[in-house]
Amino acid sequence: MNTIAERYVKLVLAVGQHDADYVDAFYGPPEWKVEAERQKVPLRDIAAAADRLIADIPPAGDADRADELAGLRRDYLKRQLEALRTRVRMLDGAKLTFDEESQALYDAVAPVHPESLFADTLAELERLLPGDAPLVDRYDAFRQSLIVPADRLARVFDRAIAECRTRTLPHVQLPANESFTVEYVTNKPWSGYNWYQGNYRSLIQVNTDLPIYIDRAIDLACHEGYPGHHVYNALLEKHLVRDRGWVEFTIYPLFSPQSLIAEGTANYGIEVAFPGDERVTFERDVLYPLAGLDPAQASAYARVQALVDRLAYAGNEAARAYLNGSADRKQATAWLSQYAMMSPVRAEQRTRFFDTYRSYVINYNLGKDLVKQYVERQSGAGASPARRWDEFVRLLASPRLPSALRAPGEPRR
Ligand SMILES: [Zn+2]
Repeated sequence: MNTIAERYVKLVLAVGQHDADYVDAFYGPPEWKVEAERQKVPLRDIAAAADRLIADIPPAGDADRADELAGLRRDYLKRQLEALRTRVRMLDGAKLTFDEESQALYDAVAPVHPESLFADTLAELERLLPGDAPLVDRYDAFRQSLIVPADRLARVFDRAIAECRTRTLPHVQLPANESFTVEYVTNKPWSGYNWYQGNYRSLIQVNTDLPIYIDRAIDLACHEGYPGHHVYNALLEKHLVRDRGWVEFTIYPLFSPQSLIAEGTANYGIEVAFPGDERVTFERDVLYPLAGLDPAQASAYARVQALVDRLAYAGNEAARAYLNGSADRKQATAWLSQYAMMSPVRAEQRTRFFDTYRSYVINYNLGKDLVKQYVERQSGAGASPARRWDEFVRLLASPRLPSALRAPGEPRR
């Protein structure tokens, strides 16, 4: 399997020569990257090599059955390669529907939700934010007093990161030298990004193009840092790369099933780190004062945000319609404003995210729900927060496929 894994890494690097967004992280042998750049293998040859590699994966043996992780490794490599094969077809001009693409790349399909499904949530928001203007405008007006002033951003984020780290450490054995740096950037299609560097280090970038509201501090600190992407990558490096010598985990192809696990755990990690009302309490007592905002607004804002979160699947619908060609940018923007509570400028930024990352959008909300169901099923109903942490960390440190998160017999949608 180690030979297969090495060929896989080299193929991912080869695809990266045709797709600048494809290789999200690589900290394996640097000479492999140099070689990929020198060779610049044509797409057709990459496709043929991927087919050969999939065929060369040996069937499971007794040793795999005795070691759960070894079995997961085989399934995972095969599925990652199939996703690579699809991405190569797309780069070569193949047109897939939104659902075909997400199934092939992320091993999952987002449920289709009619507009009526969002009606109850929108009606509740109407009640919390009364007035005559369009709901999204009232939501935006309500949030004006919840923007973190630019000169306080760094200190608010630093405090949020410290809190998330403190909450994570008792449950996760992190390598002693793990660390990350935060940079503030502009003109990006995303709002935050973790660039994992290897050696237990991350570079986290925060996009300041649009106003940053107070709830983003915990979102970002958990999602990009603890116990999200930074911890996930560090645990893969520790347990799979260093302890087992599995070189395939030194590379992270963005358009692959690994992304559903990465984004899903990063989002679900927020409620693992802050069970119950611990988040709003911390925000109210610590972050609001630090940002110079009125703590009396904290619980009302948390209630509104919980409702807006429920509209995440409306964002999937906008992406599905836009990428399938049944809505243009203007229509998708209008849909996002009406059903997903995005201001026109934020909605427009979101359609640019669709342009670049396409069906990747499902990884955030569907990923979170799949991870949540899996962890809660594994830890049992009414499990303690500590028990939930254990299952969550086990998932972070193992190569599990999105389709394996579902309960046995559960339908795909
Ligand atoms: Zn993420």
